[in-house]
Amino acid sequence: MKVLVCDPIDKESVEGLKKIPGFTVEVKTGMTKEELIKVVPDYNVLIVRSATKVTKEVIEAGKNLKIVLRGGVGMDNIDIPAAKAKNITVDNTPEASSISVAELTLGMMLSMARKLHVADASTKQSKWEKKKFEGSELYQKTLGLIGIGRIGSEVAKRCQAFGMSVIAYDPYIKPDMAKQMNVTLTSNLDELYSKADYISLHIPLTKETTNMLSTAQFEKMKNGVRIVNCARGGIIDETALANAIKAGKVAGVALDVYSQEPVPADSPLLKLEQCLLTPHVGASTFEGQARVGGALVKKLKDLTGKN
Ligand code: NAD
Repeated sequence: MKVLVCDPIDKESVEGLKKIPGFTVEVKTGMTKEELIKVVPDYNVLIVRSATKVTKEVIEAGKNLKIVLRGGVGMDNIDIPAAKAKNITVDNTPEASSISVAELTLGMMLSMARKLHVADASTKQSKWEKKKFEGSELYQKTLGLIGIGRIGSEVAKRCQAFGMSVIAYDPYIKPDMAKQMNVTLTSNLDELYSKADYISLHIPLTKETTNMLSTAQFEKMKNGVRIVNCARGGIIDETALANAIKAGKVAGVALDVYSQEPVPADSPLLKLEQCLLTPHVGASTFEGQARVGGALVKKLKDLTGKN
């Protein structure tokens, strides 16, 4: 089996792949679409993270492709119907980065509560703005979670440890699961909007969730609500969000993902102090990367019967 690793994965995992009997592994990251189309006919397995786009053209050029493996969650960079049509197996390693994303979410909530990112920039300019940086506590606040799967449930646990109560909207999970997590499950998003001090999104980007948070939804939220999106860009209408911040409705927002990545220089979000922005680093921790790599090796062994 000839394996091509198209996006960076940790070195130990590349060594782990090379140790699978009968596997030849090459790493070529940062290829253009044209370069990938040129080399893909030589390989049986493609390993990607989020950067490489496995388009219909790539799949059609991959005459010998049998498996496309995505390290991490979300397979929106792979044309799954095109792969299915050619009997190519597509799989991912969804659990590996959950803790990293959950911890980033908590970091963002704490940073918004205490304005850490803004206070840091101010203090480094030799200012001493104690009054400006009076913050608030997470204690006894309500977190509204939209999506309570792998990452949402880890966020719930951590917020409960801070003394927050958690209300969640997820029409696809069983009420028993929410009960076990000590989370109030609601089937009414408006209830969540009206109760939550913090709202955090942990859902996939689908037709149903595209622009799920826009002007009408912001209007239903508490004044001063704070919002986190470490899930997928496109779930929040960014123009409506910028307007809701300027109008004082939304007190803070922390985003790791955007409708366009990298964020375009003219995005209104870049100019607002209330926005805490990171460049899609939810899964980018030493431990998360190692876990993703280990899971890729295991999955490939399972899929090829080499276990
Ligand atoms: P998951 O599948 O375990 O959980 C998603 C949950 O969303 C499920 O419980 C599902 O029932 C629910 N859901 C689906 N549609 C919904 C809707 N319309 N309304 C409410 N709930 C809905 O996924 P996960 O591993 O927890 O990942 C959550 C998100 O985080 C995904 O979008 C994933 O791509 C993203 N993610 C981002 C990063 C990053 O780097 N920032 C890293 C990993 C994952």
